[in-house]
Amino acid sequence: FEPHPDRRPVLIAGASSGIGAATAAALAELGHPVALGARRVELLETLAAKINDNGGEAFAHRLDVADTGSVDAFVTAAEAALGPAEIVVSGAGDMSFGRVHEMTPEDFRAQVDVHLIGVHRLVHRVVPDMIARQRGDFVMISSDTANHPRPRSGAYPAAKTAVEIMARQMVMELEGTGVRVSLVRPGPTLTGMGMTTPAEVIGPVLEDWVRWGFARHPEMLRASHLAAAIVAVVSAPRGAHIQLTEVQPEARV
Ligand code: NDP
Repeated sequence: FEPHPDRRPVLIAGASSGIGAATAAALAELGHPVALGARRVELLETLAAKINDNGGEAFAHRLDVADTGSVDAFVTAAEAALGPAEIVVSGAGDMSFGRVHEMTPEDFRAQVDVHLIGVHRLVHRVVPDMIARQRGDFVMISSDTANHPRPRSGAYPAAKTAVEIMARQMVMELEGTGVRVSLVRPGPTLTGMGMTTPAEVIGPVLEDWVRWGFARHPEMLRASHLAAAIVAVVSAPRGAHIQLTEVQPEARV
């Protein structure tokens, strides 16, 4: 996949840090105009200014994927600024902790609302237009916890598994439309995720993970590693579809 100037407008949900921010920078460098969405607008504006200063084109707008009105406002503003979305990267989300039976239905639902329904809100808003234009890439960032639950992870593994099933269903439903739905499944990646979680919360979680055979990772991926995978997925020539990409630290191969 040779890097080439590409003007397909990109929308990124979860662009204020980590994988989303790195992906925005990488795609902007290749020539894509990028719309950055997340709740921390000041971080988006800083990243957008950096991209624009480097000769790219970036647009920042608040986005809360848990709110249908916010998703609509983000996409409408982004498309008015950059043109119709041809690539969407859906990576908004946060780590969640808790034993399933101890979580309130409200907390469980709130996590599903971001990690699963949040993805669907974007799908519902952009995919019909992509079908009408007969082209589009929708990349969903899942997790290597999909189909492999870890204890005390709240609704996260269930929601990520559901995202993967939804994506595979959509691949069948979108046959012949020119719209590709792809899954990028990160392994452990050093990002903003979990960074603000207090040690007394994350400590027992990690202990339990190790007890159930999930080793602590000597190496972690960087957000730029995931950005490289996402660039490869959306750069696949027409006629090819990289449907599922799992990225793990090289030391674990
Ligand atoms: P970060 O915390 O660095 O980034 C998460 C992004 O999601 C932030 O930009 C955050 O911005 C945004 N976000 C969170 N909630 C919402 C919301 N309701 N609406 C809009 N944006 C939201 O973590 P990562 O880069 O690691 O996470 C990116 C994706 O990768 C996530 O889907 C995560 O589940 C997945 N992943 C990460 C792994 C890892 O080890 N890091 C492993 C497997 C999967 P803001 O707070 O400003 O809204």
